Order: sequence, then structure tokens, then C-alpha cells
Amino acid sequence: MTSRRAARRGDKPEFVGRNGPYDTFRLGPKPGGTLLLVPAIGDAWPAEVKNAVERRRRATLYGRCDCGARQGRPKRAPDGVLHAAMAHEHDCPAGNEVIAELFRFHGITLDPETGP
Ligand SMILES: [Zn+2]
Repeated sequence: MTSRRAARRGDKPEFVGRNGPYDTFRLGPKPGGTLLLVPAIGDAWPAEVKNAVERRRRATLYGRCDCGARQGRPKRAPDGVLHAAMAHEHDCPAGNEVIAELFRFHGITLDPETGP
């Protein structure tokens, strides 16, 4: 189930737990539904990074970004995981390029072993 479809049904993402540097949420029916992984927010990160990642989390969980971007049709990767791309505005802080640049600038890595 996509985030957009779940939002239309009135489903709210339910926090499941921490998985390395990611927070896991469940969407949709139980059992069943979809697990969503979003980056956890580091306590020590600068405010602009926290705000960008928070916006990215909301976009992923609700299928729609503040910049107007909507979740695209999901495609299944070879590892079986579904990816639904979202085309953010070029200056949107939740977009891949802007977040990557913020992480580079502040020396932040999402370390799968230790988390943020
Ligand atoms: Zn956006």
C-alpha cells in the first residue's frame, strides 16, 4: 500500500521501532500493510538538517511533500523492496540533492551500525 493511498483511507502511520539509523512505521491493515523506513533524526544535528529530514519523513509517511511533490507509482527493486520516487521541487529541503548537500556540508553520515 502506498502512503498516498493510506492517507486517502484515513490510515495513520504507526511507529514500529528503530532499525539502525532508520525509524520503521507500519501503514495499513494489521496483519499485512506496508513497512516504511525513514531516517531517524540525530539529536546533535543542526536545526536546518533536522528540519529537512523531518520534512522528508512527513513526505514519505504521508505521500505528499510541502513543496507539492506526490509519491510516484511504486516499483519493486531486485531485493524485493518497493521504492516510490517523489519528484521534489529543485530547492525543496526534502529532495535528494538538497539533503545530500546538507549532510555533506555538516559531515553527517547515516551509519547503519550506530545510527545518527
Ligand atoms: Zn518536497
